[in-house]
Amino acid sequence: MSEDHANCLFCRIARGQIPSRMVYEDEDLVVFHDIHPAAPIHLLIVPRRHFSSLIDAGPDDLALLGKMLLLAPRLALEQGATDGFRVVVNNGAGGGQEVFHSHFHVLGGPRPWRSMSPGR
Ligand code: 5GP
Ligand code: ZN
Repeated sequence: MSEDHANCLFCRIARGQIPSRMVYEDEDLVVFHDIHPAAPIHLLIVPRRHFSSLIDAGPDDLALLGKMLLLAPRLALEQGATDGFRVVVNNGAGGGQEVFHSHFHVLGGPRPWRSMSPGR
């Protein structure tokens, strides 16, 4: 872990230095509930390794990104999203990203959902 990321919010959550409602952990990933949910089920799938967004991902991240996507349906279902779910990935300020440690949002559950548009 580089010193540069000592104060990164999601690095700190992944290291257990900031509490979260964790639902899944392995050597590569942590998954926890969003603190400000936009839907009844709102999870964040977060790699332990810090990279800012998909803009900074490369071929070495292929397996990790596939693992994140394949985990989404499993955890959505476990959390009660029985009729489908949505994956949202905001990339860069223009993409509405607010926490600059790459993550996938997994949203599900009964409507209404809050808008996730930038500048909400
Ligand atoms: P982004 O806009 O970067 O794609 O999404 C960042 C998400 O992180 C937001 O949905 C926001 O509610 C969530 N978030 C921000 N701070 C915290 C925190 O301290 N704990 C948790 N669990 N979620 C957070
Ligand atoms: Zn980080």
